[in-house]
Amino acid sequence: MPELPEVETVCSYICKTFKGEEIVRAEVFRFDLRIGTSVPQDFIKRVTGTKITDVCRRGKYILVHLSSEEIMTVHLGMTGRFIAHDHSYKRAKHDHIILYFKGGKCLVFSDARRFGMVDLAPAKIALERLAFMGAEPLSDDFNPASFLQKIKGRKVPIKQALLNQEIVAGLGNIYVCEALFEAGISPLRAAEKITLQEAEKLVPIIKNILQKSIAAGGTTFRDYRSAEGKKGAFVNSLLVYGKEGEKCVNCGHKIVKIMQGGRGTFFCEKCQR
Ligand SMILES: [Zn+2]
Repeated sequence: MPELPEVETVCSYICKTFKGEEIVRAEVFRFDLRIGTSVPQDFIKRVTGTKITDVCRRGKYILVHLSSEEIMTVHLGMTGRFIAHDHSYKRAKHDHIILYFKGGKCLVFSDARRFGMVDLAPAKIALERLAFMGAEPLSDDFNPASFLQKIKGRKVPIKQALLNQEIVAGLGNIYVCEALFEAGISPLRAAEKITLQEAEKLVPIIKNILQKSIAAGGTTFRDYRSAEGKKGAFVNSLLVYGKEGEKCVNCGHKIVKIMQGGRGTFFCEKCQR
């Protein structure tokens, strides 16, 4: 499942490759993607002849800004991918959208499991739809003070608070497990019980993990373009995620796995309090 660092890598790739390029033709093979969402029926008409002016990320959403002042908002869901080819590309089974550019390249959106989302809306509306999201974890808006303010009075476990997009945008399960381990905080602690001292430790750890993973994401994307199913280089840096039954690198105690809100949580009961 693409997490924030992978989404960031995809955004910079599309931006680097297609910014300023004009869409001369578009094909949509499937309009129904994620349940309850659909690619607009007039998508082809609205994107043809426009240029990509910018590509940004908000949480795990990719925002492709078009010269028509519309934004194509994409969520990769579980298996969504963007791959660049040239115009001679032959459509593969799970390709749902292909954008053809004037320069001879095309951008293919594929999604085997169809949990992804592709929407197109005037910029103002597109941004309003994402306004519910909390601070970007890599921005200065996400800091110990603002974070404590957001979790004040919340009795949910800190693990679930960190996954709540309204508190902080785009953090995924892997990064939350890893950050809590590095900060020595139990995922079971009530969010409201986190102290300033702990927040001052946790917030920079989250930023650091994401930055390290974005740096390794370049590797993910190279693999991602050539072969399916390969994991990014950051997988080698994981200390608790997926390590159930293995020894904790700090104390040698066994890493345990529990379920929280339907998601697996990996942690060390001894190091994390
Ligand atoms: Zn330990």
